[in-house]
Amino acid sequence: MRVDDWDRAKTTGLNPTQLAILTLLEGRREGGLGVKEVAAHLGVSQPTATDSINALERKGYLAKRPGETDRRAVRVVPTADGIAVLQTANAGDGLAERAIGCLYDREQEDLLLTLIKMIRHLQETDAIPVQRMCVTCRHFAPFAHADAARPHHCHFVDAAFGQRDLRLDCRDHEEADPAFRAATRKAFQPG
Ligand code: SF4
Repeated sequence: MRVDDWDRAKTTGLNPTQLAILTLLEGRREGGLGVKEVAAHLGVSQPTATDSINALERKGYLAKRPGETDRRAVRVVPTADGIAVLQTANAGDGLAERAIGCLYDREQEDLLLTLIKMIRHLQETDAIPVQRMCVTCRHFAPFAHADAARPHHCHFVDAAFGQRDLRLDCRDHEEADPAFRAATRKAFQPG
């Protein structure tokens, strides 16, 4: 994945941190994020995030806006040029996508469930910010249907979906309360 990051960086003139910031903001085009939130999501210091954000702003790939409730709290949002350069960077599969493509469907599903489990553990122990995954979303109803191919339900779009379609970063995500998240975790226990 790191090699993929550098390959993408070469084609766009952006470094991996700058690309990661644009990727993070792509799903938050309306409200954007504060510098502190960007740093927390990327696991970098605030000065590092600030440097990269300023570089992206100079290139015209993101803009700073005052916060809605606190006008001194700056929010950063991607510009149309920022979205376009991200699309260029993500054109075609990288090494990681091709390696995943070698797995059988069942193996891909197992990998997704394993990743969700690991990410959920990291966020429940406050090691990383809450990710916008189905399993932490208040719209999620796990195993609500008898159909083994599409057992889950999303109340936001009011539709059933399968294990392979569990989202890791959904822009419609709304964080569920801790009791709801614990019940969801239990629903995914083996047996
Ligand atoms: S809104 Fe998004 S994160 Fe929430 S259950 Fe639906 S698909 Fe999953």
